[in-house]
Amino acid sequence: MPPTATVLAGDCTTEFIPATDDRRVHRGRVVVLAKPDRTLLVHDRSGYQPVAWLTRADSLTVEADDDGFAITARDGDRTLSVRSHGAGETVEVPISAAGTPVGECPDSDCGAALVRTGGDVVCLGCGDAYGLPAGASVRDDATCEDCGLPVMEVARGEQFRLCIDYACDSLTDAVRETLDRRFDCPDCGRDLCVREHRGRAFLGCDGYPDCETAFSVPAGTLAVTCLCGLPRFETATGVRCLDGTCERERETGTAGGDGT
Ligand SMILES: [Zn+2]
Ligand SMILES: [Zn+2]
Ligand SMILES: [Zn+2]
Ligand SMILES: [Zn+2]
Repeated sequence: MPPTATVLAGDCTTEFIPATDDRRVHRGRVVVLAKPDRTLLVHDRSGYQPVAWLTRADSLTVEADDDGFAITARDGDRTLSVRSHGAGETVEVPISAAGTPVGECPDSDCGAALVRTGGDVVCLGCGDAYGLPAGASVRDDATCEDCGLPVMEVARGEQFRLCIDYACDSLTDAVRETLDRRFDCPDCGRDLCVREHRGRAFLGCDGYPDCETAFSVPAGTLAVTCLCGLPRFETATGVRCLDGTCERERETGTAGGDGT
């Protein structure tokens, strides 16, 4: 069952009791929106701003019968209540996150729109969700040849084009092909190997557990070699050493600059 929002409308008295100040009362023909995250908004006829609102309240209760409706949201010591004068209108509607359209669900029983919201691609029909790795951008001009989902571009040493479904294309496998055993551990000289922890690729020393040196792989492409011997990565926020705590990097940053 998809989450639902409740939309109520009618001649209402709205009472907001804040933590400190005096209570505020409004009356008018308003539209009230109660979201699944217990956010309550009361709108009158003009402007984008609600007459009264409470965001992600601790509790939200809706009572409706033939005589009208009453809705109360409580958050700490603040209360927002709306009571209708007369029956009013009440409707429950399915609601989802809204995001940038990135294609259509390839499931033949579904076919609904896929949208990107934050770090996920979500199907508005079946609710399937695909978590994206940091820094990934979803292409709207190409789909996976195997499953029909959108492909993403993501950089971990090199730029990869992969299916957004990890079961189809493993980012760790792609990183392994380019970065495995390519650099030496700065502490013991053994190889840095590509490993995975909770779905995220990282470079860890081959000498583990004797040597516990490990680095997460930055979201960027390989640039020059750092004075410390490790690679530097060109990322969205600038060039950085694989070792986020590297001090040799800062030395050159002030001495020569990198021209960007
Ligand atoms: Zn779907
Ligand atoms: Zn695929
Ligand atoms: Zn080591
Ligand atoms: Zn360095």
